[in-house]
Amino acid sequence: MAKLNPSFSKLKSEYLFSTIERKLSDVKKNFTSTRFLNFSIGDIALPLAPAIVKALCDAAEEMGTKQGLQGYPPTFGYPFLRAAIAEQEYRGLCIESDEIYISDGINSDAVNILDLLHPASQVGFLSPTYPAYLNSYLMSGRKKSLLIPCTEEQGFIPEPPKEHCDVLYLCTPNNPTGVAMTRSQLQAFVTYALEHEALLFIDSAYSCFVTSPDVPKSIYEIPGAHTCAIEWKSFSKSHGFTGLRCAYSVIPKTLKARLQGKKVAIHPLWEKRQAIKFNGVAYPIQKAAYAGLMPEGRAQTEKQVRTYLSCARQFKKGLLDLEQRCYGGVDAPYLWWKTPKEMSAWQFFDFLLEQCHLIAMPGIGFGPHGEGYVRLSTFSSEEEISLALDRLTTKVSPCILL
Ligand code: PLP
Repeated sequence: MAKLNPSFSKLKSEYLFSTIERKLSDVKKNFTSTRFLNFSIGDIALPLAPAIVKALCDAAEEMGTKQGLQGYPPTFGYPFLRAAIAEQEYRGLCIESDEIYISDGINSDAVNILDLLHPASQVGFLSPTYPAYLNSYLMSGRKKSLLIPCTEEQGFIPEPPKEHCDVLYLCTPNNPTGVAMTRSQLQAFVTYALEHEALLFIDSAYSCFVTSPDVPKSIYEIPGAHTCAIEWKSFSKSHGFTGLRCAYSVIPKTLKARLQGKKVAIHPLWEKRQAIKFNGVAYPIQKAAYAGLMPEGRAQTEKQVRTYLSCARQFKKGLLDLEQRCYGGVDAPYLWWKTPKEMSAWQFFDFLLEQCHLIAMPGIGFGPHGEGYVRLSTFSSEEEISLALDRLTTKVSPCILL
């Protein structure tokens, strides 16, 4: 009989979302007319901006004409989008359009990059962080990994490890803590990478939410990063593209690593990988992403980002007023809420679900250092957050939360 990948057995048997769904449907059976407020999922809550909808429709119409026919898209992205990203996102940062590779999502890029790594690489992962990096790493059968803690004592900011790593995955602003690294904190990782000849994989999915002046919006603001870092950015959260799918990897030509002892540029390997395994992002989607970078689309989508951040501020203030230990929400649409009374993440999840009909995300789903926390997504509305705070204030006795 055919044999399957044994590494699947290293993955947790039940997926976080399915456990949440199961618990929710059990509780809903007893509260059929109750409005449940869902702060668990980091998905957009506002409709697509008008400029993006128009670009999608126009592109589809164009494709319906003989002159506008579009077949397979270019594997690395249409030149118009690559050029617009270089100009709009990387002006003054020495990134050229042919160092930008369009994809269908950071999720894909962050897991597909493993194709380029030597199987014996030692890879560092933050804990807590976006779980896809480590899960795909385990699925690929690799073993040498190191967890880099982001704890409350450190302000949830990771420190470069004492041990040697060949690659470090960093997520800043970090999902789930909502905390972003400053210039000097990122500089420490660049220095580490240069000393160890390591690569940094920087997930910047939430860079559009950065408001703190000392937090860079790109790793390439840090001296030395062009020779050690790949950066991923996405239209998912900045432009409401979670359902459309468009993102990009930035791989500077100066970025090198060892292949059979020799130092070689990484971008030709990525190009080869993509040419073999990826067929590009649809024309209307790239036209829509392009529209989102132009002044009208940018103004509309930036307003949406401000709305999500304002929700984060409102929710955080409400929780702090209730004397909760709550972090993030300044440079990202996530709040990281310390569970009261030493409750485990799942115990507090159950409590919020059963007593307040609020759905949070148990922090343990993001790594062992997420135990004792829940994440709240503020891709939400002022009205939902007011209702949530109202329930927390009126339904829950203060002695439970404190
Ligand atoms: N990276 C982080 C940190 C995320 O939180 C998410 C989605 O929630 C992703 C990547 C996925 O991004 P994309 O939609 O571009 O695949």
